[in-house]
Amino acid sequence: SPVITMRDLKRHYSMGEETVKALDGVDLEFLKNDYAAIMGPSGSGKSTLMNIIGCLDTPTSGTYILNGQNVAEMDDDELARVRNREIGFVFQTFNLLPRINCLRNVELPLIYAGVNPREREERATEALNRVGLGDRITHKPTELSGGQIQRVAIARALINNPSIILADEPTGNLDTATSQDIMEIFSDLSKAGNTIILITHEEDIALYTRRIIRLRDGRIESDKKQ
Ligand code: ADP
Ligand code: ADP
Repeated sequence: SPVITMRDLKRHYSMGEETVKALDGVDLEFLKNDYAAIMGPSGSGKSTLMNIIGCLDTPTSGTYILNGQNVAEMDDDELARVRNREIGFVFQTFNLLPRINCLRNVELPLIYAGVNPREREERATEALNRVGLGDRITHKPTELSGGQIQRVAIARALINNPSIILADEPTGNLDTATSQDIMEIFSDLSKAGNTIILITHEEDIALYTRRIIRLRDGRIESDKKQ
């Protein structure tokens, strides 16, 4: 069964007299192991779609089923739980704290979740190992390259073992070779059972995924496996 099912999803904004149709009838399914790129011109609805998938925003109409649950029927506590446990976010700007080391950055979400220090350290170390940074756990972000910093951000997104990883232009600040490394890490994660959905505007980056979804004017223009 799909991890995500969206049916006739709309997100409209009222701007005075005018209505902006950021999403205007989107039907999508994502499966476990999916590795998908969302592409499309500026203003086509990519960010809006990601925000809704990540439960940071809610649709104006339509249905969104996440791991069998209708998101519209969740209360605030459930939504917070879903955002923390079922979804890992990776952003272009890495959002790491510069003065604390990799291990501490990665375990931050667990501090908020009240996990004890020993388990935090174990799980953060494991997440850093998964992105190939096991030998950098005591380094601070200022002591790492851009690609290593992005890997720390991915490790942090993995810390609660989310079923879905959402990434907004995750290679936007990286050179080609480093971008390829990051895309390979996402590929490995998708094969290991995570659903990976990322926004990119770079065609050569999208080629590393196994599915390209193109948006235009709030609708799906194409959705192709590759
Ligand atoms: P993309 O990420 O593809 O650039 P967005 O999802 O950011 O597209 O935006 C889709 C459309 O919705 C655009 O026309 C944008 O101006 C509009 N939009 C997005 N967020 C808001 C908002 N908070 N208020 C009003 N309009 C918005
Ligand atoms: P991106 O480069 O990721 O597409 P945008 O510049 O489109 O980002 O949007 C950045 C933020 O501003 C988003 O959270 C989006 O919802 C919001 N936004 C985009 N367009 C508008 C708008 N016309 N009015 C208000 N907020 C907007």
